[in-house]
Amino acid sequence: MKTKLWKVDPEAEDLVNDPQIREAAALLERGEIIAFPTETVYGLGGNAKIRDSVRKIYAAKGRPSDNPLIVHVATEEQVREICTEINPMAKKLIDAFWPGPMTLVLPSRGAVTDTVTAGLSTVAIRMPSHPVARALILASGLPIAAPSANSSGHPSPTTAGHVLHDLNGKIAGIIDGGETGVGVESTVVDCTTTPMTILRPGGISREQLAEVIGPVTDDPGLTRPDQTPKAPGMKYKHYAPEATMYLVPKGKDRIRELVVNQKNEHRRVGVLTTLENKDAFPDADVVLTCGRRSDPVTVAHDLFAVLRRFDAENVNVIYSETFSEAGIGKAIMNRLSKAAAGRVLE
Ligand code: AMP
Ligand code: MG
Repeated sequence: MKTKLWKVDPEAEDLVNDPQIREAAALLERGEIIAFPTETVYGLGGNAKIRDSVRKIYAAKGRPSDNPLIVHVATEEQVREICTEINPMAKKLIDAFWPGPMTLVLPSRGAVTDTVTAGLSTVAIRMPSHPVARALILASGLPIAAPSANSSGHPSPTTAGHVLHDLNGKIAGIIDGGETGVGVESTVVDCTTTPMTILRPGGISREQLAEVIGPVTDDPGLTRPDQTPKAPGMKYKHYAPEATMYLVPKGKDRIRELVVNQKNEHRRVGVLTTLENKDAFPDADVVLTCGRRSDPVTVAHDLFAVLRRFDAENVNVIYSETFSEAGIGKAIMNRLSKAAAGRVLE
């Protein structure tokens, strides 16, 4: 299949009537799948009501069929069509953070195909704020099922180029709306428990959620090896660069030692660091910076693109700095830890 590429300026007026958005929306209505930018990462969208369309998403990504998708909507009316109930706490979260990088798990009405929910009785819903995503949903009039637009296991795409690299020839088209903003995926909140549970840390921090609804629990399956995560997707290998990656909490002096040891073994070594420390590793073959330590938002923004760049550099091993888990740091450390398959070097 030839993958069409549309370039759309997210700041243009009246995007809903943009001919390129209209063309992409028409393809979605016909059951084709399309990648589009959101404020978190690029999504791979299909018509959430058509089973065949949703199947195409799983096939293009190579995604395990037990891993449900997030349904993207543009209005609260669409939310009410998909779930049976929005409880008062969920409503507070909606009012505070939608449109934005937060996904709510709510009881499903069965209005979307069961391939979206992987047969669960709940459904994950998000209202994105990116103007292109909103315009595409409104132009199609559809709830759009959309996971991140990467091959399963790869880092999520933050540019149209990343999508093209993974999915060229496998999907009907890509709307290129430039680099995404937040850079990590949405926070997934299970609204069916009391207190509510964070199933995946993301663009909205636990601190932000707690300000609006009080205490929120973290799914113990996220950190405890003896418990299965409640979001089926969190149990899979993810974001992994081709090289073996290690997290090094002790920081730059320890990383320097590790680099020298590896160089003695004639291996090609990469370091994932931040702007503040970019000159601290003269012996490494490849030093890539991921934002500024002093501003974790910039680290989240660059993270997935940097993980992808290491693949192009053909390193054997990557040592990475670690970050505080405050605020968006929790999502950063979750993604890094998955990229490193849990490997930590003291
Ligand atoms: P992705 O679409 O790749 O960003 O991932 C969406 C995440 O939400 C995955 O970890 C899914 O397993 C999770 N998810 C989607 N729907 C549900 C649901 N109904 N209950 C629990 N987790 C869900
Ligand atoms: Mg994903």
